[in-house]
Amino acid sequence: MSRVIIIGAGGVGNVVAKKCAQNDEVFTEVLLASRTVSKCDKIVAEIHEHFPQSRTRFTTAAVDADNVPELVALIRSFGPELVINVALPYQDLTIMDACLETGVHYLDTANYEPRDEAKFEYKWQWAYRERFEQAGLMALLGCGFDPGATNVFTAHHAKHHFSEIHYLDIVDCNNGNHGKAFATNFNPEINIREITANGRYWENGQWIETQPLEISQDIYYPNVTTRKSFVLYHEELESLVVNFPTIRRARFWMTFGEAYIKHLTVLEAVGMTSIEPINFRGQQIAPIEFLKAVLPAPESLAANYTGQTCIGVQARGVGKDGEPNKVHFVYNVKDHAECYREVQAQGVSYTTGVPAMIGAMLMLQKTWFKPGVYNVEEFDPDPFIAGMNRWGLPVDELGGIQLVLD
Ligand code: NDP
Repeated sequence: MSRVIIIGAGGVGNVVAKKCAQNDEVFTEVLLASRTVSKCDKIVAEIHEHFPQSRTRFTTAAVDADNVPELVALIRSFGPELVINVALPYQDLTIMDACLETGVHYLDTANYEPRDEAKFEYKWQWAYRERFEQAGLMALLGCGFDPGATNVFTAHHAKHHFSEIHYLDIVDCNNGNHGKAFATNFNPEINIREITANGRYWENGQWIETQPLEISQDIYYPNVTTRKSFVLYHEELESLVVNFPTIRRARFWMTFGEAYIKHLTVLEAVGMTSIEPINFRGQQIAPIEFLKAVLPAPESLAANYTGQTCIGVQARGVGKDGEPNKVHFVYNVKDHAECYREVQAQGVSYTTGVPAMIGAMLMLQKTWFKPGVYNVEEFDPDPFIAGMNRWGLPVDELGGIQLVLD
């Protein structure tokens, strides 16, 4: 029996809401709120159509999550135990403020990013730790797939396979095809900002900066394909090197097709990815916001998406049995078309939304519960992996083969 507010009704919000509807023993009442209420209504109508037996009761509301008093009023009117934030990273702090003011737990899938800085870091949210602790509330940060499941996979390596992890490589392959010349799989503004930024990885106690997409290698993704993959900075690296201090090097790799990179290079060269507002016919517009408006919405890609995603974590180090150079890989493969059949979403939204529902479930059941602000790897990975196996993201393991080379 629990009441939850989901904020955000984009690609990820759609999946979280539908997975809550499937898990109706835990999620009994859900308020789906977002800036555009018609998107919430559409999702709830689909839930009634596709999951008619679900006992979860849904309501919808419009909310501007940049506005703390508006959020506080909404939370007070519904009285939830937990807010699941799947709006944009810009709203993390306002939603955390509203949770503190109303005494409600908090979960998100992406760390805070100031709108005008193109810089994402945990420092802003970690600074809330004491306030959440003192209020007896819990905030769980970054509970999507990457970050999220990748942090759980790292904790799984540490709990079951390694006495010391020395080298960590997180790999993210989208081998899907949506048939569009150029589109991003999640919010275009956030996605493009992530890729056009300098790369960064952790080595011997410091961050090494690279040019965007400077380092690459071909990586074999089990049961899917071999794809050229590029080092880029991803937010889970920041918490993982703090929580697993034996790590000597931690890198994040992602696949990008040639056509994708070509489009992005041109858009960047002509200034379309800039976050600096320009004056256009008397209005201040950041070119990237305009670009977002002309690109396909991520959720619109779902219907014709084919192919699979494969996301995993390779660890290398000293095994539990003392093996000095053990290597092990934990991963999930997900099929885009299967996601569409189940929840009318593409694989990237699905692989983010399912872990958010699982994290929320574990918090509500108090399986994962500590007052304060936490990253996912700070909890027992076993119930989370059991949840992934149950709720549509089966976890596989492969030992003894080094898929990502030095
Ligand atoms: P979308 O752009 O599809 O959806 C975002 C939603 O948030 C929209 O419904 C939007 O409303 C709403 N929103 C935006 N601003 C506000 C506001 N001020 N107040 C209320 N609602 C607002 O994004 P996605 O669903 O693809 O991504 C959601 C989140 O998940 C993002 O933070 C993203 O970074 C994160 N993510 C995490 C991943 C992971 O693995 N950890 C992977 C992929 C995404 P409107 O429709 O009106 O614009």
